[in-house]
Amino acid sequence: MAKIKVLDEHIANQIAAGEVVERPASVVKELVENAIDAGATKVDVWTEEGGLSSIRVTDNGSGIDPEDCETAFYRHATSKISGGRDLFQITSLGFRGEALPSIASVSKVEVVTACGEDGAGRRLVIEGGTLKSNEDAPASRGTDFRVKELFYNTPARLKYMKTVQTELGHISDYMYRMALSHPEVAFTLRHNGNSLLQTLGGGDLLQVIAAVYGTTSAKAMIELEGESLDFAVSGFVSLPDFTRSNRSAITTVVNGRYIRSHVLNQAIMRAYHTLLPVGRHPLVVLRLVMHPSLVDVNVHPAKLEVRFSKEAELVAFVEEKIRAVLSHEVLIPKAVNQR
Ligand code: ADP
Ligand code: MG
Repeated sequence: MAKIKVLDEHIANQIAAGEVVERPASVVKELVENAIDAGATKVDVWTEEGGLSSIRVTDNGSGIDPEDCETAFYRHATSKISGGRDLFQITSLGFRGEALPSIASVSKVEVVTACGEDGAGRRLVIEGGTLKSNEDAPASRGTDFRVKELFYNTPARLKYMKTVQTELGHISDYMYRMALSHPEVAFTLRHNGNSLLQTLGGGDLLQVIAAVYGTTSAKAMIELEGESLDFAVSGFVSLPDFTRSNRSAITTVVNGRYIRSHVLNQAIMRAYHTLLPVGRHPLVVLRLVMHPSLVDVNVHPAKLEVRFSKEAELVAFVEEKIRAVLSHEVLIPKAVNQR
């Protein structure tokens, strides 16, 4: 008697949700990434009770074609890659086609979306992975995505959630990183009606730094720009006399994706070397651009960790560029005084 069988899609989605949807911030992350991939220039996020009772993300991006709406919630359904080769040339934030089915399997989802400006759109309701309705609905171009009662049908996961404040901390941290990664997009974040973040879009990274860390911090930043054959970098690093106790004020962005990289953090700290007191950290936002084939993002479902195929060269490049701009500032302190 055969004992092995393939699990049905419903269970498969719930299993995937265990990895993809760790907490409310993961939902915010996936929905905001989809908005950016859809070319949105404006993304608004509303959360309630740390995102556990409600998360709403609206964007003015391409929208989902009415005929694709249901398919978008199928497992491994994506418009972003089509063949195995594409996996080595990822240019979008998403590509796994796992977020929507995972989110929908552990919450109550309502999405209203339209592709054109004629007011014709589509509304879909899915609860716990079961389609409740799929009908024409008036909508303007873009997508309005609501996620209610996250983990309502997975009590073990719900119980594991921390306080509203902790969950909100994860959400706002993620939104800050996203805003820093995409200064060309206007973001807002509200929690229980209170505004926590507002950026203007338009591409001014220093304005985003001011919105996230405050104007005093923004004034302590020096601009950095450079390129080599393989890499280009732009961004801001703080003057050595402006330090923080918190390592998480380092944001590294690769091809528009916020990533966590131990080796890059170390390279940044080495560049500051003796300039910083022990235990203090700089404020850094680095935006790196490289050919997509040089970075493997298919390492973990959350895509926060990546692998670089020219890691040693990249690390040396980053360290050298930061060191150069810092030594320039230290050698010519007048520039500092004129601020
Ligand atoms: P992935 O992002 O990996 O492709 P998702 O499950 O997150 O997978 O989304 C599935 C598909 O639904 C996407 O490939 C995209 O075509 C569509 N989609 C999801 N969100 C949006 C959005 N906000 N705007 C336009 N299309 C979207
Ligand atoms: Mg996605």
